[in-house]
Amino acid sequence: VRRIIIAGNWKMYKTQAEALEFLQAFLPQLSETPESRKVVLCAPFTTLSSLSKTLHGSRVRVGAQNIHWAKEGAFTGEISGAMLTEIGVRYVVVGHSERRQYFGETDETVNQRLLAAQSFGLLPILCVGESKQQRDAGETEAVISRQLERGLVGADQTNLVIAYEPIWAIGTGDTCAAEEANRVIGLIRSQLKDTDVPIQYGGSVKPENIDEIMAQPEIDGALVGGASLEAESFARIVNYQS
Ligand code: 13P
Repeated sequence: VRRIIIAGNWKMYKTQAEALEFLQAFLPQLSETPESRKVVLCAPFTTLSSLSKTLHGSRVRVGAQNIHWAKEGAFTGEISGAMLTEIGVRYVVVGHSERRQYFGETDETVNQRLLAAQSFGLLPILCVGESKQQRDAGETEAVISRQLERGLVGADQTNLVIAYEPIWAIGTGDTCAAEEANRVIGLIRSQLKDTDVPIQYGGSVKPENIDEIMAQPEIDGALVGGASLEAESFARIVNYQS
């Protein structure tokens, strides 16, 4: 059976104080969460150390949102794998569409970041997904297969998570229909060497649609933006009804 991973991506939200406040409200709501569901918080760099200390011994894992490919060096503003693993980080998002769009990430830099994550024993969450324009032009499959092929060059294909995040569904409230997400995720799976790799859906996941999303046979979890910022709503997502 494939692993189920529900991850929050906090993006550039929450100070350290706000992050800890979130945990106080969130953790008590996990008492009934089935053990088989992995729960991850991908949080801003400044919160990772205190999150990791507070979450020590809990079932919630800490993730970062970026990693540089070098071990260390003159790379102002970047963070290395050693810096992340030292403070207990276990996951890292790579290739998020916001990084590709606003910060010039390419499939090649995404690939280098992914390889660095794996070399430090971090589990990369590789994000792929098409824009509205690409979808309308019938290019969804081609775009995704290119992102996968280039993003996974030289990678250990058994140690990663993939997130299918159609760009047009991110932060728009316009969720991809569950059956359509299931279809695309099935295509992604058919392109992987290890068909047990967990593949998440991301894009306007909310308490109102998580049950339907998780009912899809190909979908192994969710990468949740906006709805992960509030303890009540993220807890409802993690505790989806199956
Ligand atoms: P929203 O859930 O806010 O649409 O964001 C999705 C996302 O980008 C998660 O990485």
